[in-house]
Amino acid sequence: FRGAVTLDGPSGTGKSTVARGVAARLGAAYLDTGAMYRAATVAVLDAGVELDDAEAVARVVAGARITVGTGAGIERVEVDGVDVAVRIRGAEVTRAVSAVSAVPAVRRQLVAQQRDLVGAADTVVVEGRDIGTVVLPDATLKIYLTAAPEVRAQRRAGQLGVTDPAQIDALAADLRRRDEYDSSRADSPLRPAADAVVVDSSELSQQAVVDRIVALAEA
Ligand code: C5P
Repeated sequence: FRGAVTLDGPSGTGKSTVARGVAARLGAAYLDTGAMYRAATVAVLDAGVELDDAEAVARVVAGARITVGTGAGIERVEVDGVDVAVRIRGAEVTRAVSAVSAVPAVRRQLVAQQRDLVGAADTVVVEGRDIGTVVLPDATLKIYLTAAPEVRAQRRAGQLGVTDPAQIDALAADLRRRDEYDSSRADSPLRPAADAVVVDSSELSQQAVVDRIVALAEA
């Protein structure tokens, strides 16, 4: 297989694990575009500007040097040369990232950077929300990964080691809030491209999802 595989869908579907698994099997590079929006959010939080001040947010992100690795293995994410790989997964960034990624100028900047990174790779798996629809409309294979909200909340809970039902409900509420926010935008990335293969991971192991996507790529 050569070319680009796009992997879009909401959070909590196991997308990152699946994307890494598919990249490893295909010997492909891997680009996590969510990590780029999260890194941009670190820059915004550190600059201390208001999240609802779109102009200020755009200005900060335009001045930030965001670098992400596309090699297999350890995730490298930096803002102005500082390693933020751990920080981008924290609660503060997770809460703020939707607001930052809703700013059109931020999206234009990161989409351009994403296209450059993909252009430098021969075979690549690109994970995000709008990759098949906006970033790479001509991709070879487009996958849209979904799962029932309860399943997504359970998965998140498992990753975080949360067992308290009230906390799991709170996770489900946070997933719904982010979905709604992400899909309320004019460019609403939370829908499959017309030519995407929709894979529902609710009843499938992550290994089974990887197998299915690899089979589609090699068909
Ligand atoms: O995939 P992940 O949960 O790391 O993405 C974090 C956030 O970044 C999403 O909730 C969404 O707001 C934003 N995002 C986006 N477009 C992408 C990837 C992520 O708007 N292609």
